[in-house]
Amino acid sequence: MASASEHDAHQCSNCPKTAPLTCKGCKAMPNATDGQLSSAWYCGAECQKAHWAEHKAQCKAAQARQALFRAGALAQQIFYRFSKTTYMWSPGRIEKIGTTWLIHPERHTGLYSQIDEVGHFIKGAKYQLRQVYGGEGPPVIDGTDYAHTIIRVTTMNGETYALDMAGAQYGWYEPVTPWQSYNTSRVREIKDVVPFGGTRVFCKTRADNTGGQHKWVHGIKEGFAKSVDEAVEWWQRRNIPSSDLLRLPEHEFQKRRGSLIDTVDEFLQLYKAIQESNGGFTVREGFKHGGYDRKFTSFALGTIPGRAA
Ligand SMILES: [Zn+2]
Ligand SMILES: [Zn+2]
Repeated sequence: MASASEHDAHQCSNCPKTAPLTCKGCKAMPNATDGQLSSAWYCGAECQKAHWAEHKAQCKAAQARQALFRAGALAQQIFYRFSKTTYMWSPGRIEKIGTTWLIHPERHTGLYSQIDEVGHFIKGAKYQLRQVYGGEGPPVIDGTDYAHTIIRVTTMNGETYALDMAGAQYGWYEPVTPWQSYNTSRVREIKDVVPFGGTRVFCKTRADNTGGQHKWVHGIKEGFAKSVDEAVEWWQRRNIPSSDLLRLPEHEFQKRRGSLIDTVDEFLQLYKAIQESNGGFTVREGFKHGGYDRKFTSFALGTIPGRAA
């Protein structure tokens, strides 16, 4: 198969001739093995027509893949906004709750046959992770023992991908990677596999069953997460369903993507402002000290309603 570079000559998918035409359906779509862009190429309309019966399934799979790569990139962008607004996680140290957004609607579209959350230990993690907060000195977490949560998606045609929104902390910036290569190069050991949305349920359970600061922290986390869902819902009602968004031509997709991200940002900022004005505390201080279920310092305790300083 010819390389995806525009400067290379492509061979017709149906005969040995050189192919100047690319299939519009799967033009510049990520391929299944490495995420590089590829497409079917043809010497002319006749060969394309003759090859369609064979190519059809592949073409549809490429389009589904494109939607998945877009969903992954969008979810990652929203995750970054979420982290920035809540102060829960700095870009250097990101946890898992935010990884489950935005691809919800895709479950109804028949693109994917299975979506799981996979917690795994990073291969060769010898370094330590550090929270990048000022003040009393950052707590240090041993990266070796820290399970990293990703989403594993299997498409209808049997391709499996890893969606890693928070991989930047390990230097992995691309949100979507074919599972096989992700698993081989990055996973030391799988800790657990839970159904998609499991982390969200877990956080809610913790919010319901803990008391004091923990309850407050988990409640706020839940509130921020809900804001994201509401923003996406709100935006979809006024624009297009996200499943359609993911299938738009590239130019249209890029245009609308920005407005969705902005909407999420606005909802998050609004929720934060309400929390700050109602609660008599600053969200920032609360999370600064409580985001990881660690003991609050006396300073932080003073900022929580109902607690003495
Ligand atoms: Zn041909
Ligand atoms: Zn095609």
